Amino acid sequence: MEKINTKYLILGAGVSGLTFANFLKSNDYIVVEKDSRPGGYCKTTIKDNYVWDYAGHFFHFKTDEMKSLFEEKMKDEKLVKQDKNTKIYYKNSLINYPFQTNIHQLPKDEFIDCLYDLFNKEEKEDYDNFLDMLYGKFGKSIVEKFLKPYNEKLYACNLNKLDKDAMGRFFPYADLKQIINNMKANENNSYNNQFLYPRKGAGAFMDKLYESLDVNKVKLNARVTKIDIDNKEAYIENGDVISYEYLINTSPLNQFLQLSGRQEDKNLLEKLSYNKVLVFNLGFEKKSDFDEHWIYLPEKEYNYYRIGFYNNILNDEKLSMYIEIGFSKDDEIDVNKELKETLENLEKNGITKDNKLVDHETIIMDPAYVHIEKETTEEINKYMKKINEMNIYSIGRYGAWTYCSMEDAMISAKELANKLEQE
Ligand SMILES: Cc1cc2nc3c(=O)[nH]c(=O)nc-3n(C[C@H](O)[C@H](O)[C@H](O)COP(=O)(O)OP(=O)(O)OC[C@H]3O[C@@H](n4cnc5c(N)ncnc54)[C@H](O)[C@@H]3O)c2cc1C
Repeated sequence: MEKINTKYLILGAGVSGLTFANFLKSNDYIVVEKDSRPGGYCKTTIKDNYVWDYAGHFFHFKTDEMKSLFEEKMKDEKLVKQDKNTKIYYKNSLINYPFQTNIHQLPKDEFIDCLYDLFNKEEKEDYDNFLDMLYGKFGKSIVEKFLKPYNEKLYACNLNKLDKDAMGRFFPYADLKQIINNMKANENNSYNNQFLYPRKGAGAFMDKLYESLDVNKVKLNARVTKIDIDNKEAYIENGDVISYEYLINTSPLNQFLQLSGRQEDKNLLEKLSYNKVLVFNLGFEKKSDFDEHWIYLPEKEYNYYRIGFYNNILNDEKLSMYIEIGFSKDDEIDVNKELKETLENLEKNGITKDNKLVDHETIIMDPAYVHIEKETTEEINKYMKKINEMNIYSIGRYGAWTYCSMEDAMISAKELANKLEQE
């Protein structure tokens, strides 16, 4: 057992923890990571014929600063830049995404229903919840044909429990004018029209962030099992104890709340709601006729809500896919049953006709999408203020319990590093 002192203890070596450490000017830090590899949810598995992430992990930069950082770190790596090609599989046909701006691609009677309801929708000044917002902004048919069933499959919950802004800027809003205009000139206006992807998968960027650090300061296979908040000490599974001045948590808040043993943390834990996502990475023998990057499937007869084609993104021949299936946090997942159903459904969708699965990988992302609820968000904000007073900061998509991209996580990690160093 070792007793270690550090100024900044960073819990987790995902994109948030690695970025925070990269932006620190001080060398007085330690990163502790329970896994044997850095990267968190942004890790890549490279097989002979396939490059697989934890489902698709693409970089859609909105700031020049993070884009430049990415390009600088990745300057010796091959990158692919893709104009997004995504579709919705609806009643055995493919239509463009997002559904709401492409209703003119539906059969005539369904198009008329959507347009009629869109025109006659009852907009409100304010909405009670996510589902209420969907009906108010898009009308009954668009909601019931796509937005409701798709998001129910993804979030695995009743959409009326989510906050009206649960998806923030990631929700592709469109008003009547945009929808009508799109019928003549297809303006692809969703949040991520273009994306960058490393030839060796998204994890290649994590490797670069890791290699830029003093790797002796990143302790892998080092799970934090307990935090003594009053004495500012973290206990590691191997028996080491780390005393810190500042604790930067990037592990999921629901897991972090279990480390202190405090009753108030358990009370907040009970209120957190989220889904988990079963991911299958599948490698097939031959190519397929599909050229999309990813496809959304709202219909309940298919167990997955989204499927993606790594090979189309990387311009590879052999069909290489990711499959995403949503579950609620307490669901038992029967992996074999889901895999069997997935393979049957891919045949039904016409994707794997006469093709043979040759390799696969299973990942459970738990948590995957946090359920953003108004009251819980207020409690989390109060909790964050309290722990900040004890020099604890909880950041990242799961540490901050929010919906954000890797870039957003990088920005908040950088801002926190700058702020703390000025204290
Ligand atoms: C299905 C899906 C698809 C996504 N696709 C995209 C995309 O295309 N583009 C995009 O920008 N974002 C995407 N995201 C979001 C992206 O995954 C996250 O924003 C980002 O990876 C979060 O990074 P993080 O470092 O905050 O957390 P994490 O990656 O979760 O890192 C936390 C780290 O803490 C470690 N840890 C946890 N507990 C302990 C402990 N007790 N002791 C030590 N270590 C611990 C974990 O092992 C992990 O390495 C997607 C998310 C999902 C669910």
